Amino acid sequence: MSDQLEYDLVVIGSGPGGQKAAIAAAKLGKRVAIIEKGSMLGGVCVNTGTIPSKTLREAVLYLTGLNQRELYGASYRVKANITPSDLLARTSHVIGKEVEVVRSQLLRNRIEMITGEGRFLDAHTIAVDDRSRGERITVGARNVVIATGTAPARPDDVEFDNYRVLDSDGILDLQFIPSSMVVVGAGVIGIEYASMFAALGCKVTVVEKRDTMLDFCDREIVESLQFHLRDLAVTFRFGEAVTAVDVGPSGTVTTLASGKKIPAETVMYSAGRQGMTDGLDLEKAGLEADARGRIDVDDDFQTKVDTIYAVGDVIGFPALAATSMDQGRLAAYHAFGEPGNKLTDLQPIGIYSIPEVSYVGATEVELTKNSVPYEVGVSRYRELARGQIAGDSHGMLKLIVSTVDRRVLGVHIFGSGATDLVHIGQAVMGCGGTVDYLVDAVFNYPTMSEAYKVAALDVANKIRALEAFTR
Ligand SMILES: Cc1cc2nc3c(=O)[nH]c(=O)nc-3n(C[C@H](O)[C@H](O)[C@H](O)COP(=O)(O)OP(=O)(O)OC[C@H]3O[C@@H](n4cnc5c(N)ncnc54)[C@H](O)[C@@H]3O)c2cc1C
Repeated sequence: MSDQLEYDLVVIGSGPGGQKAAIAAAKLGKRVAIIEKGSMLGGVCVNTGTIPSKTLREAVLYLTGLNQRELYGASYRVKANITPSDLLARTSHVIGKEVEVVRSQLLRNRIEMITGEGRFLDAHTIAVDDRSRGERITVGARNVVIATGTAPARPDDVEFDNYRVLDSDGILDLQFIPSSMVVVGAGVIGIEYASMFAALGCKVTVVEKRDTMLDFCDREIVESLQFHLRDLAVTFRFGEAVTAVDVGPSGTVTTLASGKKIPAETVMYSAGRQGMTDGLDLEKAGLEADARGRIDVDDDFQTKVDTIYAVGDVIGFPALAATSMDQGRLAAYHAFGEPGNKLTDLQPIGIYSIPEVSYVGATEVELTKNSVPYEVGVSRYRELARGQIAGDSHGMLKLIVSTVDRRVLGVHIFGSGATDLVHIGQAVMGCGGTVDYLVDAVFNYPTMSEAYKVAALDVANKIRALEAFTR
């Protein structure tokens, strides 16, 4: 008899997608193992991505006092000279705690943790190499979930020294707070870091190949964000490609295809991410990845091999921790025949820029393109008592409502608490609610949530005016 370990489910990768797949299977009474290489328990989410970047943002907001300046004046600071250790101490603390939370959840659910790099020997057998101990084992699996995530994509012609030229992983080893920075790529990660460094007083230039940024968001909200970032001394160079990054003793010069040269103390690349599939020997399992390392799956997260699923960033958009978790849960349910819904279309998007952006549902651009008639209601934080108390006068909440059946079709928020507030709209939309629910609901006062009522009344008044005309 073979002494190979056998499992109902083997998950490769312990990020949010892998964790929730493993826990869902364990709750169904299955024998489950997670393979995780190195010291990355919790994945990119806990170690290099979501958790560190959001903690860094919180530290920046607190120490700079930025959110309090409307109340206490432009010179207000909690700490005058902020150092990398001021910022990174909080980050390491939170990462440590989160790793413990993940470890304890996996232990509680009797999920075996296998340390090492997994790769397929065939569709049901995985070799795990633990290089630090020079050990190799093989595990057998009735089903496999690939949740190996992504790593920052690095252009071949750019030398990353993790001092002057960094990516989002390198930022976490930051050795000084630069006074100027070029951010290459105006995607979510690029914009989040651009706003954090701008808040720290760094002069940031964002270079983006496309003519716009965050195309999937509401245009008006993106305009507001750009306006605010410009106010924090961010310069945007849209429609520009980087041709070279030169590093000297005192800084860097980034050359653009248009001939412009941008001197800066540091350059941060945030130009996409590559699926972590290279070392998986996918072909031995009958699978392949595309040029960006992504694996193709169907609506149930099943690959073309029935017993192998893939979830999280390794399958592409939206590449968010929140979505990855649910993909993992649903993949496990499907693998073991447990009834479960498909992933809902109502996926919220949160961008932790300064200020925050969040939305759920349709944008005006999408509705107009699909000839869906709608009306818009807006609430501005400066008109809310809570907005004044919090010192946030620029935030806004925008409701998009169908003029045919009054259902809420989209919610777009800019400003304090946006990523939390969006879930009120999500709940109303998820239950098929109309704007009338929000008009009639009584909200605590003073709260930011009241923005929903104000925006709902705004839409309702506009729709009434339209109905009065057509009656
Ligand atoms: C800077 C940054 C900020 C972000 N901010 C947010 C945010 O605010 N909100 C949000 O929802 N999302 C955010 N994300 C995205 C979020 O982190 C990812 O969507 C999420 O981590 C993806 O989860 P995952 O399960 O696909 O795997 P990941 O978290 O990517 O983890 C994959 C794991 O697999 C392991 N692995 C890879 N190959 C192997 C192998 N062969 N054998 C064993 N183990 C392997 C890796 O070591 C890693 O631990 C951010 C990402 C970044 C980079």
